Amino acid sequence: MRRQRPTLIAVSTLIAITLTTAAPTPANAAPPEQVTALTAHQADGYTTLAWQPVDGATDYQIERTPVDADNTPTGAPTIVGIWRPNRQINQHAPTFADSGYNPGDTFQWRVRARTGTTEQPYSDPVTATTTAPWGNPTTPGEQLRTGWETTHAAQYTSDTDEYANTAAIDALSDRVRVVELGRTVQNRPINMMVIGHPTPAATPEAVAATSPVAINCNVHGNEPGDREACLIMARQLAFSTDPRITDLLSHTTVLIVPTINGDGRANNTRGNSTGQDLNRDYSLIRQPETTAYITMVRDYRPVAGYDGHEFGNSRAGDLPMLPPRHQNVAQPIFDQSQDMIEGHMYAKGAEAGWWACPYGCEGGGNVGLSEETILRNTLGLKNVTNSLLELRSSGGQTRPDEGNTANNRRRKTYSALWTFHQFLDYHRADRADILKARAEAIETQAANTGRLVFRGSRPIPAHPAPHPGDSPPPIDAPPADLILDNAPCAYKLTDAQYNGARTDGPGGVGTTVAQRIAAHGWKVITIGDDHYVPLNQPERGLIPLLLDTKGVEKLTDGERVYPTLTGRRNGPLTVTGFTCADDATINGPVTVRAGAALVTTATTISGPLTATGAAGILLADSTVNGPVRIATTTDAISIIDATIAGPVDLSGNTTGTDAPVLAGTTIRGPLRCTGNNPAPHNLGIANTVHGPRTTQCAAL
Ligand SMILES: [Zn+2]
Repeated sequence: MRRQRPTLIAVSTLIAITLTTAAPTPANAAPPEQVTALTAHQADGYTTLAWQPVDGATDYQIERTPVDADNTPTGAPTIVGIWRPNRQINQHAPTFADSGYNPGDTFQWRVRARTGTTEQPYSDPVTATTTAPWGNPTTPGEQLRTGWETTHAAQYTSDTDEYANTAAIDALSDRVRVVELGRTVQNRPINMMVIGHPTPAATPEAVAATSPVAINCNVHGNEPGDREACLIMARQLAFSTDPRITDLLSHTTVLIVPTINGDGRANNTRGNSTGQDLNRDYSLIRQPETTAYITMVRDYRPVAGYDGHEFGNSRAGDLPMLPPRHQNVAQPIFDQSQDMIEGHMYAKGAEAGWWACPYGCEGGGNVGLSEETILRNTLGLKNVTNSLLELRSSGGQTRPDEGNTANNRRRKTYSALWTFHQFLDYHRADRADILKARAEAIETQAANTGRLVFRGSRPIPAHPAPHPGDSPPPIDAPPADLILDNAPCAYKLTDAQYNGARTDGPGGVGTTVAQRIAAHGWKVITIGDDHYVPLNQPERGLIPLLLDTKGVEKLTDGERVYPTLTGRRNGPLTVTGFTCADDATINGPVTVRAGAALVTTATTISGPLTATGAAGILLADSTVNGPVRIATTTDAISIIDATIAGPVDLSGNTTGTDAPVLAGTTIRGPLRCTGNNPAPHNLGIANTVHGPRTTQCAAL
């Protein structure tokens, strides 16, 4: 964790709260062992019960009784919850999110302490009507219901129901645009809802400028609880008039992919139709489903994400979560993700009564490790603050009334809905920190410093007691043979490696390495028959995992290319071929010949830098004490965290589908960009330009 967050963050985050309290009890009436001051707050699909703690209590039992309008019981009282000290970070204000009931029904609750196995007297009862499923049944749009809602969780929403629901939301709400990201192996659409207020930004690039958030709901087809939450939340975001919702959507874009694995959902299998576990494929992107998501991340550039799952450990908390742990993830992204989980979710969970905990929790086994194929880690390596979300599959000991399937399903889905709303609130409140972490991470990665680790996680320290969960996920230190202390400048691929046919996709046919690198959005420089992937890029931590010979799950064995220019050099320099400078000082003008490439880190060039018709120019963490003129480049341009005396002129560069990057750079002179196709962008990291910025660079 980076910092503790004892204080409230921004506005109240419980949804549609109503408060019901018991009749006042004379202060001297209750014995000290009796729970007092029980309250019940209603929210979407759950009730937060809160009470005064009893000295010496070992745990508490939560009893729920269905009642009619006259407060007469219509069923038997049932113990539906067990509160244990390890479920929240503060002990002075116990809360429990009771969930699983049919939303809209009326109940009476009582809570009693136990000391050891001795049951103490029940509290006075509290009676309340729970919140009905979201949306006025007579208001167009709001009235939509999923198959899961209409069957009271007896059935999950089918694929055809989902497509109809999604299309109806799209048709009825100006805030929503449904985009088909791709098709599954069995040709099911992979839809994403792009949601903004009053309308979503028009293009992926325009959405990226809003620092969007992305929620991925159903990568494992047999873990559908999150998907139902995503569909309900999409309807809320599309139609709610709650100022909180319109405020959120006025400040960012919410990207919801309800079902990335439509084939697996339809067949209720973990993997896709080929049996591939898609959450072991996000780096390799052998499958069309993962390719669709990763291409979306490239184009829409979400700054934060959640990935929804279910977890079959009955001893876990309600909501196991985990940040990207891979050691190649930049420290600011790990820290920010931990802040989102431990700083925000643990604190808010203790208010709402949901038990967030580190993935694995108690006796979770060897889970939550460093595979870069897992979306949590892939996104971290793409500088996205993010978390895994697991919904504990069974009720377990703390929710003893979930032998009833519908009760169990409702608790899971509504706990996910709570989490996703909290995620949006966190982004709204901490957006500046998230963007700062992202900028620092991108600049750190592009600087290409520090060791590379091919497998290995950061430790997740136990949260200080009393903590949510009994044990953090296991240590996953990198073994010595999977550490490379001396990172290369680039990987060189032969044409056969780069463009050669693959057999690792569905049906033994795979996309080429070139296509997968393009889907990740990495810059590549081609000189002759050789293809170079420089490491001074934002995804420096991910590139070696796929292209180095040490990669545990790699695409190919690229050749490590080390810098050829280091130290001090005097006089004019003409660059031919692929030239990599690291920790160099070049006193004199630099000219990059047509078809050649210059890649620099920690390098200072004194004199003009001129490139006409170059294959590629990638400068990171470098200084140019003079003008920079880059024209008619063919493959790749990237200038990140540089200082340039200026002027800077980018003109007539035609870099295919890969836009030039100019980010986090200080230019002490004018910046002029004309006739570049595509136009340059700044990855959301503003540049400091002391002179005028013209035409294509006016907004950079
Ligand atoms: Zn899963």
